[in-house]
Amino acid sequence: MLSIENLHATVAGKPILKGLSLTVPAGEVHAIMGPNGAGKSTLAYALGGRPGYEITDGAVSFDDADLLGMEPHERAARGLFLGFQYPVEIPGVSYLQFLRESLNAQRRSRSEAELSGAEFIRLAREQAGALGMDVDMLKRPVNVGFSGGEKKRAEMVQMGIMNPKLAILDETDSGLDIDALRAVGAGINRIMRAPDKSVLLITHYQRLLDYVRPDKVHVLSAGRIVRSGGPELAHELEREGYAEVA
Ligand code: ADP
Ligand code: MG
Ligand code: MG
Repeated sequence: MLSIENLHATVAGKPILKGLSLTVPAGEVHAIMGPNGAGKSTLAYALGGRPGYEITDGAVSFDDADLLGMEPHERAARGLFLGFQYPVEIPGVSYLQFLRESLNAQRRSRSEAELSGAEFIRLAREQAGALGMDVDMLKRPVNVGFSGGEKKRAEMVQMGIMNPKLAILDETDSGLDIDALRAVGAGINRIMRAPDKSVLLITHYQRLLDYVRPDKVHVLSAGRIVRSGGPELAHELEREGYAEVA
């Protein structure tokens, strides 16, 4: 699904990723953990194609295609979903409008028919309900005045609607209370636990991994993967700290 080889990336001229290699097969959830400033968010942004994140070496293949050769919208059209630590607010655009346009753009790029208004609302209601969210909440402008938990639940509604092949979720658990954490964890499992899907779950803490059990855990430190293991590695990190383990 995702294969990263020797990735080097710079931000504002400063090298941040320094030879990162990682493979996530279809059907697997991999967690990336690591200390502050290790380059975790930089990895997510670089894979998303965010301007300002310059790839200086390496190769990335996604679903058997050259990811780095694709425009950001092509990456999304092919089934890449990115969830960011700080979701953007879009005043003036309702969440439902935003979701419908995102989905229809994806469908157009796949030469699929757009959903009718009624079909879309049915889908949005179903996905919101699964996250314990009233669909009326999504009539409000995107993320404006949303609590941390509401932002993340809404992001999971978006993920359910987009139904991606690969989700890269950057600290999706930060600032969540236990109920929201459980709802978001259940959402990730429900939407993404399938033989033809994969997740890269970036997190500081072990607790999300109690809800979304990873197949592999990787430690990112100073721009490279320095250790990989099974779920027990997350517990070891929680106990010992990054300085000991990495
Ligand atoms: P993490 O998500 O692991 O905490 P980041 O990827 O956010 O780490 O940051 C990695 C390093 O890149 C940090 O030293 C950070 O200061 C630096 N960095 C990130 N974004 C920028 C930027 N826009 N300009 C300069 N340095 C940046
Ligand atoms: Mg950080
Ligand atoms: Mg980060």
